[in-house]
Amino acid sequence: MAIQINQLAKHFGQTQVLRGIDLNIEKGELVALLGPSGSGKTTLLKIIAGLEWPDAGALQVDGADWLQLAAKDRRIGFVFQQYALFPHMSVRDNLAFGLTVGSRANRPGKDVIRRKVDELLQFLQIPQLANRFPTQLSGGQKQRVALGRALAITPSVLLLDEPFGALDAAIRRDLRRWLRDVHEATGSTTIFVTHDQEEAFELADRVVVMGDGKIEQIGTADQIHDHPASPFVARFMGATV
Ligand code: ADP
Repeated sequence: MAIQINQLAKHFGQTQVLRGIDLNIEKGELVALLGPSGSGKTTLLKIIAGLEWPDAGALQVDGADWLQLAAKDRRIGFVFQQYALFPHMSVRDNLAFGLTVGSRANRPGKDVIRRKVDELLQFLQIPQLANRFPTQLSGGQKQRVALGRALAITPSVLLLDEPFGALDAAIRRDLRRWLRDVHEATGSTTIFVTHDQEEAFELADRVVVMGDGKIEQIGTADQIHDHPASPFVARFMGATV
């Protein structure tokens, strides 16, 4: 099991944002967290990334007690909705960035980094963009680079927070297909946050439906469509089809 989450809870002020989350994710699985805005999806993702801290509960990743590890030791790839590329760096340097941080002793040599970035550029199908800067890229191209940068470190877990939310429908469809291919090629354990049913069901091996800080149902597209586990799930599915 790649990720084991037990009874995770979190509040902000008076608001209970996560209530007793239990979730197991297999190595190499692509899981979507699906639910309306405010249901706690991003908070759960941020806790896994080490960007937020839970009030209670346990979290293991690849057998390690994740809450005991410093965020910098977690080897997480994180892609945000708004491409957090470094504006003053070329695509090549953005991709190399993750490989060049860390202690000098563990850092790969320049040639190794260059080769790895060349491979990534091919893999991402964007070798022609190597020397461009973020302002010279379309939204879809920026997200490819952002995902590439997250993958460069060979993450234990890849986390994506509404990565295509800011893009228009046709580009979203393209990127979905591309992400599916990238996932099949890398086999990284991936958690993907979305409020878009179509996106969740097309991409994910399993979909986790969240509502008001709780998991309402976990299943494949067919299971959730054909047998919604609660009135909440039935309503949510109906509301956004
Ligand atoms: P989702 O990703 O499903 O839209 P979030 O996890 O972003 O949901 O938010 C869940 C709830 O927690 C919302 O009510 C939101 O306003 C609240 N929340 C999230 N982050 C913070 C924060 N840093 N401080 C206070 N409240 C927050």
